[in-house]
Amino acid sequence: MEYGEMCRQELEELRSRLRMEYEEAKSRGLSLDMSRGNPSPSQLRMGQDLLDACPDVDRLFSEDGVDCRNYGCPGGLRELRELFGSIIGVPASNVYIGGVSSLNMMFDTVSRAMLKGLAGSPEPWGRLDEVKFICPVPGYDRHLSILEYFGIEMIPFPLTGEGPDMDEVERIASSDPAVKGMWIVPIYSNPSGDVYSQETLRRIASMETAAPDFTVFCDDAYPLHALYGEYEKPLTLFSECAGAGHPDRAIFFTSFSKVTFAGGSVCCVAGGDRTMELARKWFSVQVITHDKVNQLRHIRVLKDVEGVKERMDRHAAIIRPKFELVEQIFERELGGTGIASWNKPRGGYFIGLRLNCSARRVVSLCADAGVKLTPAGAGFPHGTDPSDGFLRIAPTYPSMEDLERAAELLCICVRLAACEKLLCE
Ligand code: PLP
Repeated sequence: MEYGEMCRQELEELRSRLRMEYEEAKSRGLSLDMSRGNPSPSQLRMGQDLLDACPDVDRLFSEDGVDCRNYGCPGGLRELRELFGSIIGVPASNVYIGGVSSLNMMFDTVSRAMLKGLAGSPEPWGRLDEVKFICPVPGYDRHLSILEYFGIEMIPFPLTGEGPDMDEVERIASSDPAVKGMWIVPIYSNPSGDVYSQETLRRIASMETAAPDFTVFCDDAYPLHALYGEYEKPLTLFSECAGAGHPDRAIFFTSFSKVTFAGGSVCCVAGGDRTMELARKWFSVQVITHDKVNQLRHIRVLKDVEGVKERMDRHAAIIRPKFELVEQIFERELGGTGIASWNKPRGGYFIGLRLNCSARRVVSLCADAGVKLTPAGAGFPHGTDPSDGFLRIAPTYPSMEDLERAAELLCICVRLAACEKLLCE
């Protein structure tokens, strides 16, 4: 029954019943952390082949004869540049392989923009009175933290399921020269699961911008992270930008963090010719070479796009049942109540739960009962969701048993918070 249709007495009775269920769940002494989208131990165990890939110290040479034990080959092994390039839709010559973290590359690129400017910048962003960014929300909290760290103003844009409302994005980007950039996670967005449509990408590539150096920070973190084997095609954004006469409009980032080892894989940055010229110059001062042994391991194990997909199928076999379990519990406990809705992602690492009650209250109830969720508001500028109505659910890490208990507790907390809210109105 819809909670909104219940009379006061029904709601009061329901609240007392839920209170008892909550106290009962609390007494079980749960201790679960569902706050981050980490791969589970069984997914990580798949990485054994990575550790076994280079057993012989004298055979650490790439196909081109690069000795991976030594300095040299600063932009990374050709084979790996080709692999990343074919995944993100950028020519291998425009891909630079970094270290273990794409987030680090994103931070580094914003730092460079602030200190030196990017391709087409009349001056470094740090010299300007104000710098603004378009931020699709709910978004990846760590993107927002980078902007917050540099004092960049964030303009939140709600996502539609296929990216942000492009009419609005075009309006803001074309009217305000202080708007210098935009984050996008075009495939299985963290945390909404949005997959940007071809049309959205085309419009992002071709739109008029008031800032000559308007830059799309394209974090393609989940390019092949399909749950049902329906792999998205490589991004067309690079070629769309080139075709629209804005070859340096987008800078691309990705890594194999959710393919091999989280925070222990290999990442890349890519972009137009001028972008990469400036990036290489910057990198040449800060690092001699990244870890090519790790690059070689990845190439030996993953081989090519088909090899990555085969591995992602195995990841999906582990995590898909977890997504489905949460969705089933949501359907059973929250379906038809009118107090919550959620997406059914086809890939990525998160389920977005939208609430008609206070997300903060739900997080706090769950925490008191031993389940740590991502803080409410984490995907919004400065950690504040004006509607206090969104929760990011990360089902991948816990075991099925723990996940079941956590999802059931979460539903009790959502229902309780909804009753409390209705009784206060
Ligand atoms: N970008 C997004 C959208 C993510 O969700 C994550 C991790 O969850 C990252 C980047 C982090 O990537 P990396 O481990 O390469 O720094």
